[in-house]
Amino acid sequence: LSSEKYKVKRKDFSTVQANDVNYFKSVLGEDRVLTEEDDVLSFNIDWIRNCRGQSKVVLKPKSTEEVSQILSYCNERRLAVCPQGGNTGVVGGSVPVFDEIILNLGLLNKVISLDDISGALVCETGCVLEKLDNYVRQHGLIMPLDLGAKGSCHIGGNVSTNAGGLRLLRYGNLHGSVLGIEAVKADGTVIDCLKTLKKDNTGYHLKHLFIGSEGTLGVVTKVAIHCPAMPKAVTLGYFGVENFEKVLQLYKSAKSSLGEILSAFEMADFDSISSTARILNLPNPISDFPFYVILETHGSDEDHDKEKLHRFLTNEMKSGLILDGTITSEPSKMQAVWNIRENIAPAGIVGTYLFTFDVSLPMKNYYEIIPKLRQRLGNKVNLVFGFGHIGDGNLHINVVMPEYTREVAELLEPYVFEEVSALQGSISAEHGVGFRKPHYIHYSKDRSALGLMRQIKTLMDPNGILNPYKVLPDE
Ligand code: FAD
Repeated sequence: LSSEKYKVKRKDFSTVQANDVNYFKSVLGEDRVLTEEDDVLSFNIDWIRNCRGQSKVVLKPKSTEEVSQILSYCNERRLAVCPQGGNTGVVGGSVPVFDEIILNLGLLNKVISLDDISGALVCETGCVLEKLDNYVRQHGLIMPLDLGAKGSCHIGGNVSTNAGGLRLLRYGNLHGSVLGIEAVKADGTVIDCLKTLKKDNTGYHLKHLFIGSEGTLGVVTKVAIHCPAMPKAVTLGYFGVENFEKVLQLYKSAKSSLGEILSAFEMADFDSISSTARILNLPNPISDFPFYVILETHGSDEDHDKEKLHRFLTNEMKSGLILDGTITSEPSKMQAVWNIRENIAPAGIVGTYLFTFDVSLPMKNYYEIIPKLRQRLGNKVNLVFGFGHIGDGNLHINVVMPEYTREVAELLEPYVFEEVSALQGSISAEHGVGFRKPHYIHYSKDRSALGLMRQIKTLMDPNGILNPYKVLPDE
């Protein structure tokens, strides 16, 4: 249980009673109030199997009005609530710690409108990212973000975590592409900022408060988001590189040689790729190298893009930055490479325990921590490896071991955060703070900023019912 593992004390919230369940049933009907232990179990456990809560109730609203009624009631009764999207979060934010009511938003899953000229999509927040992408593609558009969890994560979860993903380099983060938001405050008030305009400077930009607030300031119920045009040509390069210094030089060269068509630049070290290929039995299209780079272009002219990429490959093989590589525009071959990359995290939890860290670092120091950790942990763990969105300075550190041990946990935390903080990095680049990191947030946020965050929380959720124990540490 999370509460025991992380030694957290339950706050003074009410406990769900039979009367409360009856009220929820009167709002949602019998079917959308789950109270059987077996039905509730999977909603209590996070994707990475790191955190486990003890909730006895899952509620599945279908509309903003239902969310509003539930929150208004819970606020009056001082019942704590954990908003939950696709439950693919990796910092324990999406599952309860104690007996918080789980508000699962999966049935808020309707597309409301799509303007294929402006690219503005309006939808409910329980829509699965991949389904939205398939939908907008039929209209010549793509979703502005893509991540390995796309088959399960919700757009509401993405917005609430300010998810980054594989193409942030090209399409920017959600603070740029989210046009509007509808959210419900803890007291049930519906905040309507659901505009589809690109420009709207009328007062405070409230939507940004909900982007990345991990369910602590309100429940996001609808989103308007800008979808870029679907690229006519997509090309992918997969390269083997001798050392990390050369990965950096290759990135610099890719930016200047490929310019505006560069849509992703990912790196993975040998252990990331080889262990994933081995565990999941996935073919690796090139042989073994200390580092791998996956580079993708989105453009409008296949011949032009391929020519540019081939020239880049030839030049950089000559210069020695690339040892070997392949370039393809064939969807199945591109998918085979993305499959390995996107399965690095899932492979880490096949029969093993995974510690995962998601940090931002200055480019020149990006990879330093991996050899340091290997030395520090020695044979106490199976593997330490690094991969990530290098174009965004975002490194994922994975430590794989047979099972959780406190000894390794204490060797990792706060060490990793101290190292990152000393380099002026961020202890969470894109996954958020959730339940696992509030007590480390000070490594990245100043006391004055934390003070203001607390004031905002108190203003928006005075009883603290929304996702307690998450994001902000106790004073
Ligand atoms: P959940 O996990 O259900 O919730 C996440 C947080 O948001 C919780 O705090 C929850 O309370 C809150 N929340 C959810 N929905 C709402 C709502 N409607 N209103 C208010 N609060 C809400 N993340 C990245 O950023 N980039 C990646 O490249 C990436 N790759 C991943 C790959 C894999 C294989 C996996 C498993 C995860 C990956 N993630 C990545 C992490 C995760 O997928 C993202 O954080 C995602 O945005 C979470 O969406 P979700 O719907 O699953 O939200």
